[in-house]
Amino acid sequence: MQGVERSIVTIDLGAIRRNAETLRHVAGDAELWAVVKADGYGHGSREVSGAALAGGASALAVATLAEALPLRTAFPDARLLVMGPVEDVAAAREARLELVAVGVEVPEGLPVHLKLDTGMGRWGLSELPAPSRDVVGVMSHLASAEADPEFTQVQIERFREATATLAGLSRHLANSAGTLRFPEARLDAVRCGIALYGISPFGGDPAADRLEPALRWESYLALVKRLRPGESTGYGRRFVARRETWIGIVPVGYADGFRRDLTGTRVVVEGTPTLVVGTVSMDALAVELERPLPTGTAVTLVGDGVTIEDHARVAETIGYEIATGIVTAQGRARRVVRNG
Ligand SMILES: *Cc1c(COP(=O)(O)O)cnc(C)c1O
Repeated sequence: MQGVERSIVTIDLGAIRRNAETLRHVAGDAELWAVVKADGYGHGSREVSGAALAGGASALAVATLAEALPLRTAFPDARLLVMGPVEDVAAAREARLELVAVGVEVPEGLPVHLKLDTGMGRWGLSELPAPSRDVVGVMSHLASAEADPEFTQVQIERFREATATLAGLSRHLANSAGTLRFPEARLDAVRCGIALYGISPFGGDPAADRLEPALRWESYLALVKRLRPGESTGYGRRFVARRETWIGIVPVGYADGFRRDLTGTRVVVEGTPTLVVGTVSMDALAVELERPLPTGTAVTLVGDGVTIEDHARVAETIGYEIATGIVTAQGRARRVVRNG
Protein backbone atom coordinates (compact mmCIF):
# COMPACT_ATOMS: atom_id res chain seq x y z
CA MET A 1 0.00 0.00 0.00
CA GLN A 2 1.51 3.30 -1.04
CA GLY A 3 0.96 6.84 0.14
CA VAL A 4 0.04 8.09 3.57
CA GLU A 5 -3.23 6.26 4.01
CA ARG A 6 -3.56 3.54 6.60
CA SER A 7 -6.33 1.73 4.77
CA ILE A 8 -8.09 1.85 1.41
CA VAL A 9 -11.72 1.13 0.61
CA THR A 10 -12.27 0.19 -3.03
CA ILE A 11 -15.76 0.36 -4.49
CA ASP A 12 -16.44 -1.73 -7.58
CA LEU A 13 -19.04 0.20 -9.54
CA GLY A 14 -19.41 -2.73 -11.94
CA ALA A 15 -20.70 -4.82 -9.03
CA ILE A 16 -23.22 -2.10 -8.14
CA ARG A 17 -24.39 -1.91 -11.75
CA ARG A 18 -24.76 -5.69 -11.99
CA ASN A 19 -26.61 -5.84 -8.65
CA ALA A 20 -29.01 -3.21 -10.00
CA GLU A 21 -29.54 -5.31 -13.13
CA THR A 22 -30.18 -8.40 -11.00
CA LEU A 23 -32.67 -6.57 -8.76
CA ARG A 24 -34.43 -5.08 -11.74
CA HIS A 25 -34.79 -8.57 -13.19
CA VAL A 26 -36.11 -9.89 -9.83
CA ALA A 27 -38.54 -6.96 -9.58
CA GLY A 28 -40.25 -7.97 -12.82
CA ASP A 29 -42.64 -5.24 -13.92
CA ALA A 30 -41.92 -3.06 -10.90
CA GLU A 31 -39.44 -0.20 -11.22
CA LEU A 32 -36.20 -0.32 -9.25
CA TRP A 33 -35.53 2.71 -7.06
CA ALA A 34 -31.99 2.84 -5.66
CA VAL A 35 -31.71 3.77 -1.99
CA VAL A 36 -28.48 5.73 -1.61
CA LYS A 37 -28.95 7.37 1.80
CA ALA A 38 -26.10 7.51 4.34
CA ASP A 39 -23.61 8.24 1.56
CA GLY A 40 -24.70 5.18 -0.36
CA TYR A 41 -24.47 2.94 2.73
CA GLY A 42 -20.86 4.09 3.09
CA HIS A 43 -20.00 3.35 -0.54
CA GLY A 44 -20.18 6.95 -1.86
CA SER A 45 -23.63 8.14 -2.90
CA ARG A 46 -22.69 9.99 -6.07
CA GLU A 47 -20.68 7.19 -7.68
CA VAL A 48 -23.13 4.52 -6.54
CA SER A 49 -26.07 6.51 -7.93
CA GLY A 50 -24.43 6.72 -11.36
CA ALA A 51 -23.82 2.97 -11.38
CA ALA A 52 -27.36 2.17 -10.18
CA LEU A 53 -28.91 4.37 -12.86
CA ALA A 54 -26.67 2.70 -15.46
CA GLY A 55 -27.94 -0.65 -14.17
CA GLY A 56 -31.55 0.34 -14.77
CA ALA A 57 -32.68 2.08 -11.58
CA SER A 58 -35.29 4.71 -12.47
CA ALA A 59 -35.11 6.85 -9.31
CA LEU A 60 -32.82 7.61 -6.37
CA ALA A 61 -34.01 7.68 -2.77
CA VAL A 62 -32.33 9.27 0.25
CA ALA A 63 -33.31 10.06 3.84
CA THR A 64 -32.66 13.79 4.13
CA LEU A 65 -32.70 17.03 2.17
CA ALA A 66 -28.95 17.45 2.72
CA GLU A 67 -28.33 14.07 1.11
CA ALA A 68 -30.50 14.95 -1.89
CA LEU A 69 -29.08 18.35 -2.87
CA PRO A 70 -25.61 17.25 -4.07
CA LEU A 71 -27.23 14.40 -6.00
CA ARG A 72 -29.49 16.88 -7.76
CA THR A 73 -26.37 18.75 -8.90
CA ALA A 74 -24.72 15.54 -10.10
CA PHE A 75 -27.87 14.12 -11.75
CA PRO A 76 -29.97 17.01 -13.09
CA ASP A 77 -32.57 14.73 -14.69
CA ALA A 78 -32.93 11.90 -12.17
CA ARG A 79 -36.07 11.34 -10.10
CA LEU A 80 -34.99 12.02 -6.53
CA LEU A 81 -37.09 11.05 -3.53
CA VAL A 82 -36.45 12.14 0.06
CA MET A 83 -38.00 9.50 2.32
CA GLY A 84 -37.61 11.22 5.68
CA PRO A 85 -39.23 14.42 6.94
CA VAL A 86 -38.14 17.71 5.32
CA GLU A 87 -38.59 21.12 6.97
CA ASP A 88 -37.49 23.31 4.09
CA VAL A 89 -40.10 22.48 1.45
CA ALA A 90 -39.14 25.54 -0.63
CA ALA A 91 -35.59 24.25 -1.02
CA ALA A 92 -36.94 20.84 -1.99
CA ARG A 93 -39.23 22.42 -4.59
CA GLU A 94 -36.34 24.46 -5.97
CA ALA A 95 -34.28 21.25 -6.33
CA ARG A 96 -37.22 19.42 -7.99
CA LEU A 97 -37.30 16.73 -5.31
CA GLU A 98 -40.16 14.41 -4.42
CA LEU A 99 -41.14 14.29 -0.76
CA VAL A 100 -42.93 11.90 1.54
CA ALA A 101 -45.78 12.96 3.81
CA VAL A 102 -44.76 11.14 6.97
CA GLY A 103 -47.40 12.79 9.17
CA VAL A 104 -50.65 14.69 8.85
CA GLU A 105 -49.00 17.67 7.16
CA VAL A 106 -48.75 17.11 3.40
CA PRO A 107 -46.09 19.21 1.62
CA GLU A 108 -47.43 21.28 -1.27
CA GLY A 109 -46.25 22.37 -4.69
CA LEU A 110 -44.11 19.35 -5.49
CA PRO A 111 -44.66 15.61 -6.06
CA VAL A 112 -45.60 13.88 -2.81
CA HIS A 113 -45.82 10.26 -1.67
CA LEU A 114 -48.18 9.45 1.19
CA LYS A 115 -46.71 7.08 3.72
CA LEU A 116 -49.01 4.63 5.41
CA ASP A 117 -47.87 2.94 8.61
CA THR A 118 -48.78 -0.73 8.13
CA GLY A 119 -46.81 -1.98 11.12
CA MET A 120 -43.40 -0.32 11.21
CA GLY A 121 -44.63 2.00 13.97
CA ARG A 122 -42.35 4.83 12.90
CA TRP A 123 -42.93 7.46 10.19
CA GLY A 124 -46.25 7.21 8.43
CA LEU A 125 -49.97 7.83 8.79
CA SER A 126 -52.26 5.27 10.36
CA GLU A 127 -54.90 6.10 7.75
CA LEU A 128 -54.55 7.49 4.26
CA PRO A 129 -56.12 10.91 3.68
CA ALA A 130 -57.83 11.61 0.34
CA PRO A 131 -54.88 12.28 -1.97
CA SER A 132 -54.40 15.92 -2.93
CA ARG A 133 -53.38 16.86 -6.44
CA ASP A 134 -49.65 16.79 -5.64
CA VAL A 135 -49.79 13.15 -4.60
CA VAL A 136 -48.02 10.83 -7.05
CA GLY A 137 -47.42 7.79 -4.86
CA VAL A 138 -48.41 5.80 -1.80
CA MET A 139 -45.89 3.86 0.20
CA SER A 140 -45.27 1.87 3.34
CA HIS A 141 -42.22 0.22 4.88
CA LEU A 142 -41.71 -3.40 5.96
CA ALA A 143 -40.56 -3.94 9.54
CA SER A 144 -39.29 -7.50 9.35
CA ALA A 145 -39.17 -8.87 5.78
CA GLU A 146 -35.82 -10.57 6.45
CA ALA A 147 -37.05 -12.50 9.47
CA ASP A 148 -40.83 -12.67 9.88
CA PRO A 149 -42.81 -13.81 6.83
CA GLU A 150 -46.13 -13.88 8.69
CA PHE A 151 -45.97 -10.30 9.87
CA THR A 152 -44.70 -9.25 6.42
CA GLN A 153 -47.77 -10.86 4.82
CA VAL A 154 -49.97 -8.91 7.24
CA GLN A 155 -48.27 -5.66 6.22
CA ILE A 156 -48.52 -6.47 2.50
CA GLU A 157 -52.21 -7.29 2.89
CA ARG A 158 -52.93 -4.09 4.87
CA PHE A 159 -51.15 -2.02 2.25
CA ARG A 160 -52.86 -3.68 -0.70
CA GLU A 161 -56.25 -3.24 0.90
CA ALA A 162 -55.72 0.41 1.86
CA THR A 163 -54.46 1.33 -1.61
CA ALA A 164 -56.65 -0.89 -3.79
CA THR A 165 -58.92 1.92 -4.94
CA LEU A 166 -56.17 4.47 -5.64
CA ALA A 167 -55.85 4.39 -9.40
CA GLY A 168 -52.98 6.16 -11.10
CA LEU A 169 -50.76 6.43 -8.04
CA SER A 170 -47.53 4.52 -7.83
CA ARG A 171 -47.59 2.02 -4.96
CA HIS A 172 -44.30 1.03 -3.35
CA LEU A 173 -43.61 -1.08 -0.30
CA ALA A 174 -40.66 -3.45 -0.69
CA ASN A 175 -37.13 -2.96 0.64
CA SER A 176 -34.36 -5.38 -0.42
CA ALA A 177 -35.61 -8.32 1.64
CA GLY A 178 -39.19 -7.72 0.51
CA THR A 179 -38.09 -7.53 -3.12
CA LEU A 180 -36.10 -10.76 -2.94
CA ARG A 181 -38.61 -12.86 -1.00
CA PHE A 182 -42.13 -11.45 -1.46
CA PRO A 183 -43.31 -11.19 -5.08
CA GLU A 184 -46.65 -9.74 -3.95
CA ALA A 185 -44.83 -6.82 -2.29
CA ARG A 186 -43.21 -5.63 -5.51
CA LEU A 187 -46.21 -3.62 -6.80
CA ASP A 188 -45.20 -0.61 -8.95
CA ALA A 189 -41.72 0.06 -7.59
CA VAL A 190 -39.24 -1.49 -5.16
CA ARG A 191 -36.86 0.52 -2.96
CA CYS A 192 -33.59 -1.39 -2.67
CA GLY A 193 -30.64 -0.33 -0.57
CA ILE A 194 -28.55 -3.05 1.04
CA ALA A 195 -28.87 -5.56 -1.83
CA LEU A 196 -27.64 -2.97 -4.31
CA TYR A 197 -24.33 -2.99 -2.45
CA GLY A 198 -24.10 -6.78 -2.61
CA ILE A 199 -24.74 -7.18 1.11
CA SER A 200 -27.34 -9.75 2.12
CA PRO A 201 -30.37 -8.37 3.97
CA PHE A 202 -30.61 -11.84 5.52
CA GLY A 203 -27.09 -11.76 6.97
CA GLY A 204 -26.06 -14.79 4.91
CA ASP A 205 -24.15 -15.27 1.69
CA PRO A 206 -25.06 -12.56 -0.85
CA ALA A 207 -24.21 -14.96 -3.69
CA ALA A 208 -27.32 -16.98 -2.73
CA ASP A 209 -29.32 -14.10 -4.25
CA ARG A 210 -26.81 -13.55 -7.06
CA LEU A 211 -25.54 -10.37 -5.42
CA GLU A 212 -21.90 -9.30 -5.59
CA PRO A 213 -20.19 -7.38 -2.76
CA ALA A 214 -18.96 -4.03 -4.07
CA LEU A 215 -16.67 -3.04 -1.20
CA ARG A 216 -13.12 -4.13 -0.43
CA TRP A 217 -11.21 -2.79 2.56
CA GLU A 218 -7.46 -3.26 2.70
CA SER A 219 -4.64 -2.35 5.01
CA TYR A 220 -1.25 -3.81 5.91
CA LEU A 221 0.93 -5.02 8.74
CA ALA A 222 2.54 -1.91 10.17
CA LEU A 223 4.49 -3.82 12.82
CA VAL A 224 5.22 -7.45 13.59
CA LYS A 225 6.41 -8.45 17.02
CA ARG A 226 7.15 -11.56 19.01
CA LEU A 227 5.31 -12.21 22.25
CA ARG A 228 6.76 -14.53 24.87
CA PRO A 229 4.46 -16.64 27.03
CA GLY A 230 2.69 -14.32 29.49
CA GLU A 231 3.12 -11.19 27.38
CA SER A 232 -0.01 -9.48 26.06
CA THR A 233 -1.20 -7.13 23.33
CA GLY A 234 -3.61 -4.24 23.63
CA TYR A 235 -5.73 -2.51 26.26
CA GLY A 236 -7.00 -4.59 29.12
CA ARG A 237 -4.50 -7.39 28.36
CA ARG A 238 -7.34 -9.41 26.83
CA PHE A 239 -4.92 -11.46 24.76
CA VAL A 240 -2.10 -13.10 26.67
CA ALA A 241 0.31 -15.39 24.79
CA ARG A 242 0.28 -18.97 26.13
CA ARG A 243 3.24 -19.92 23.98
CA GLU A 244 5.69 -17.91 21.97
CA THR A 245 3.75 -16.28 19.16
CA TRP A 246 3.78 -13.50 16.57
CA ILE A 247 1.47 -10.52 16.57
CA GLY A 248 0.86 -8.22 13.61
CA ILE A 249 -0.38 -4.70 14.21
CA VAL A 250 -2.73 -3.29 11.54
CA PRO A 251 -3.16 0.52 11.61
CA VAL A 252 -6.97 0.45 11.58
CA GLY A 253 -9.14 0.77 14.66
CA TYR A 254 -12.59 1.66 15.82
CA ALA A 255 -12.13 5.30 14.78
CA ASP A 256 -11.82 3.96 11.22
CA GLY A 257 -14.99 1.93 11.68
CA PHE A 258 -13.37 -1.37 12.60
CA ARG A 259 -15.51 -1.75 15.66
CA ARG A 260 -14.29 -2.53 19.13
CA ASP A 261 -16.58 -5.56 19.29
CA LEU A 262 -14.82 -7.21 16.33
CA THR A 263 -12.31 -9.09 18.47
CA GLY A 264 -12.53 -12.69 17.28
CA THR A 265 -13.44 -11.89 13.68
CA ARG A 266 -11.11 -12.86 10.87
CA VAL A 267 -9.22 -10.79 8.34
CA VAL A 268 -7.07 -12.13 5.50
CA VAL A 269 -3.30 -11.96 5.83
CA GLU A 270 -1.43 -13.16 2.74
CA GLY A 271 -4.41 -15.25 1.68
CA THR A 272 -4.92 -16.83 5.11
CA PRO A 273 -7.96 -16.07 7.31
CA THR A 274 -6.40 -14.79 10.51
CA LEU A 275 -7.92 -14.12 13.92
CA VAL A 276 -8.18 -10.58 15.32
CA VAL A 277 -6.99 -10.83 18.93
CA GLY A 278 -6.98 -8.54 21.94
CA THR A 279 -8.95 -5.33 22.26
CA VAL A 280 -9.41 -3.32 19.07
CA SER A 281 -8.13 0.15 19.89
CA MET A 282 -8.94 3.52 18.34
CA ASP A 283 -6.20 3.38 15.73
CA ALA A 284 -5.02 -0.21 15.59
CA LEU A 285 -5.96 -3.86 15.74
CA ALA A 286 -3.85 -6.97 16.31
CA VAL A 287 -3.78 -10.32 14.52
CA GLU A 288 -2.05 -13.48 15.65
CA LEU A 289 0.37 -14.78 13.02
CA GLU A 290 1.68 -18.31 12.46
CA ARG A 291 5.11 -16.94 11.68
CA PRO A 292 6.87 -13.57 11.42
CA LEU A 293 5.83 -11.76 8.25
CA PRO A 294 7.45 -8.64 6.83
CA THR A 295 5.92 -5.29 7.69
CA GLY A 296 3.94 -4.01 4.73
CA THR A 297 2.29 -7.41 4.16
CA ALA A 298 -1.22 -6.88 2.77
CA VAL A 299 -4.18 -7.40 5.09
CA THR A 300 -7.71 -7.59 3.69
CA LEU A 301 -10.31 -6.46 6.22
CA VAL A 302 -13.27 -6.97 3.85
CA GLY A 303 -12.86 -9.08 0.71
CA ASP A 304 -10.98 -12.25 -0.29
CA GLY A 305 -13.69 -14.36 1.29
CA VAL A 306 -14.29 -12.23 4.37
CA THR A 307 -17.63 -10.49 4.11
CA ILE A 308 -19.30 -7.59 5.88
CA GLU A 309 -21.89 -10.17 7.00
CA ASP A 310 -19.10 -12.19 8.74
CA HIS A 311 -18.06 -9.14 10.75
CA ALA A 312 -21.70 -8.30 11.51
CA ARG A 313 -22.23 -11.76 13.01
CA VAL A 314 -19.21 -11.38 15.32
CA ALA A 315 -20.32 -7.89 16.38
CA GLU A 316 -23.92 -9.11 16.76
CA THR A 317 -25.19 -6.44 14.44
CA ILE A 318 -26.28 -6.15 10.81
CA GLY A 319 -24.25 -5.56 7.65
CA TYR A 320 -25.88 -2.15 7.28
CA GLU A 321 -24.16 -0.90 10.43
CA ILE A 322 -20.73 -2.27 9.49
CA ALA A 323 -20.89 -0.71 6.00
CA THR A 324 -22.14 2.72 7.10
CA GLY A 325 -19.67 2.71 9.99
CA ILE A 326 -16.51 2.74 7.85
CA VAL A 327 -14.97 6.18 8.26
CA THR A 328 -13.59 7.87 5.16
CA ALA A 329 -13.50 11.39 6.59
CA GLN A 330 -10.38 13.14 7.88
CA GLY A 331 -7.69 10.83 6.63
CA ARG A 332 -9.08 7.57 7.93
CA ALA A 333 -9.90 5.03 5.18
CA ARG A 334 -9.29 6.44 1.70
CA ARG A 335 -12.10 5.55 -0.67
CA VAL A 336 -11.41 4.90 -4.33
CA VAL A 337 -13.80 3.71 -7.01
CA ARG A 338 -13.13 1.54 -9.98
CA ASN A 339 -15.25 0.54 -12.91
CA GLY A 340 -15.14 -3.26 -12.84
C1 LIG B 1 -33.58 2.50 3.95
C2 LIG B 1 -34.91 2.31 3.37
C3 LIG B 1 -35.12 1.36 2.34
C4 LIG B 1 -34.05 0.41 1.86
O1 LIG B 1 -33.94 -0.70 2.73
P1 LIG B 1 -32.93 -1.90 2.43
O2 LIG B 1 -33.25 -2.90 3.46
O3 LIG B 1 -31.56 -1.33 2.57
O4 LIG B 1 -33.20 -2.35 1.04
C5 LIG B 1 -36.37 1.33 1.75
N1 LIG B 1 -37.38 2.12 2.18
C6 LIG B 1 -37.22 3.03 3.18
C7 LIG B 1 -38.36 3.87 3.59
C8 LIG B 1 -35.99 3.14 3.81
O5 LIG B 1 -35.83 4.00 4.82
